Amino acid sequence: MSNCLFCKIVSGEISTDFVYKDENIIAFRDINPQAPTHILIIPREHIETLNDIDQSHVELLGAMQLTASYLAKEEGIYEKGFRTVFNCNRDAGQTVFHIHLHLLGGRSMGWPPG
Ligand code: AMP
Ligand code: ZN
Repeated sequence: MSNCLFCKIVSGEISTDFVYKDENIIAFRDINPQAPTHILIIPREHIETLNDIDQSHVELLGAMQLTASYLAKEEGIYEKGFRTVFNCNRDAGQTVFHIHLHLLGGRSMGWPPG
């Protein structure tokens, strides 16, 4: 998708603070962090929202969650705790329409979320 911000990060057109890359997934630090650790884990494939995933994406979604656990260990927040979040569409506050898993940690968090 030519005008997708996260596709531009995948292609290297926009530079960012990468923390992980593999064949299918990249991860980088959120530009506006909401916690001491705030990383976005995204597929290289352009998928607009969680409503656009199907059976073919099951392995990819699992790999994204495993990447979050790996990065939580790297960030030293694995034992204390962390949160992973997908926002889907307007009511959840999705602003970038290329799916991304937020990894948040390094402080205690409230529930329910805002
Ligand atoms: P969401 O509101 O779930 O769609 O999350 C989008 C996230 O992308 C927000 O937390 C933004 O701060 C973050 N973001 C937007 N532009 C960039 C960028 N260029 N690099 C890193 N994170 C970004
Ligand atoms: Zn995209």
